[in-house]
Amino acid sequence: MRDFAASDEAAFRAEIAEFVADALPEEVRARHALGRGLTRDQTVDWQRRLAERGWAAPQWPVEWGGAGWSTRQQFVFEDEMSRRGAPQGHTFNIRMIGPILLAHGSEAQKRRFLPPALTGEDWWCQGYSEPGAGSDLAALTTRARREGDHYVVYGSKIWTSGGQHANWMFCLVRTEAEGPRQNGISFLLIDLTSPGVSRRAIRHFYGAHVFNQFFFEGVRVPVENRVGEENQGWTIAKALLEHERLFSSRHGEAQRKLARLQRLARELRLGGRPAIEDPHFRQGLAARAMEVRALGHLTARALERLVEDGVIGEFASVMKLRGIEVNQRLDEAVVELLGPDALPAEAEFEGAALAEPPADARNARESRYWWRGPAIAGGSQEVQRGIIAKRILNL
Ligand SMILES: Cc1cc2nc3c(=O)[nH]c(=O)nc-3n(C[C@H](O)[C@H](O)[C@H](O)COP(=O)(O)OP(=O)(O)OC[C@H]3O[C@@H](n4cnc5c(N)ncnc54)[C@H](O)[C@@H]3O)c2cc1C
Repeated sequence: MRDFAASDEAAFRAEIAEFVADALPEEVRARHALGRGLTRDQTVDWQRRLAERGWAAPQWPVEWGGAGWSTRQQFVFEDEMSRRGAPQGHTFNIRMIGPILLAHGSEAQKRRFLPPALTGEDWWCQGYSEPGAGSDLAALTTRARREGDHYVVYGSKIWTSGGQHANWMFCLVRTEAEGPRQNGISFLLIDLTSPGVSRRAIRHFYGAHVFNQFFFEGVRVPVENRVGEENQGWTIAKALLEHERLFSSRHGEAQRKLARLQRLARELRLGGRPAIEDPHFRQGLAARAMEVRALGHLTARALERLVEDGVIGEFASVMKLRGIEVNQRLDEAVVELLGPDALPAEAEFEGAALAEPPADARNARESRYWWRGPAIAGGSQEVQRGIIAKRILNL
């Protein structure tokens, strides 16, 4: 692993900024700034550009296409990409199934699945939640019965983000109905083109198509597509969730939003003068700025933990809880500043052309809607509070 001294940081940040300026198409940047998901083609294209640069999965081992950076360098990369308004690579491929296969997959599974996940050739989705199992994930009932060299799967998965684009799903299934619920779950990789798989779209309340529900009617999955041992899927599932929460402080995004709030406060007028001169507004702005700075320190502390201990554990819940709160408050502040301009909420459907450069008002309300999502996904804010109370505060 290459050394990364603090003095290297400025040069590295400049290198990233240059890459983003060259490689990120303006339309994609604008769309991402609106808080809208990229189209399938845009995601795959961006993933390909990252892969060409060797930056598609910095955290993976070099032999599988990783960058060979230290944890600190990875953090700087995340931070700078986010500050520059660059979307992340394919989350499900790179941050979820990749680390799972690297830690728990067989050599054959790594060889078969990691390369196309890296380049975006395969599109993975996450099959955890069910109509009757969300926060209480161990309540899942999608069942897989062993028949010779195959499992036969019946059941349904819901809230599957990006499932309309996916050809593979990593999926939690019940392989044992008796005994403690957590001990009867297995982790399967399901080819979504298999007979017996169907899906339906679920629209967001503001129109976007992100979610899907999947149905499995006797879907045959080769036993070789099971990751880890039978009935050991819960341990894998939990490791994945911690990973999901680790990158959720979104400090770079918060910094970008704060800069935007400051810009708007200079441009917009309140009571006949620029908002930035209004004492009440200034107080709120100062509070937001302090929160962003504190979030930076929190993120740095988590990083230190990761560098020293190699794990982040329940501290990931603090990061997620706080990062989302700070981002949501910044969105609220922008909406309040814009006043009635931020209210209209026409539904936008996937595929609609981006007709004009993002207006601040549209950006503000879409970003505000969008941020409802991360507050629930990967374990809701209430669930994070429960984890903090129990495992950190010992309440
Ligand atoms: C943007 C987004 C993307 C998602 N993507 C995926 C995906 O790709 N794949 C996937 O499998 N799932 C996905 N999900 C689903 C997500 O994991 C669940 O929505 C989440 O786990 C909550 O489950 P639920 O919706 O069933 O709500 P419930 O668990 O029914 O919760 C309802 C309410 O009760 C509260 N609550 C529940 N239990 C507790 C508790 N113990 N203490 C305090 N309060 C509690 C919750 O906070 C919530 O307010 C996604 C969700 C969102 C919002």
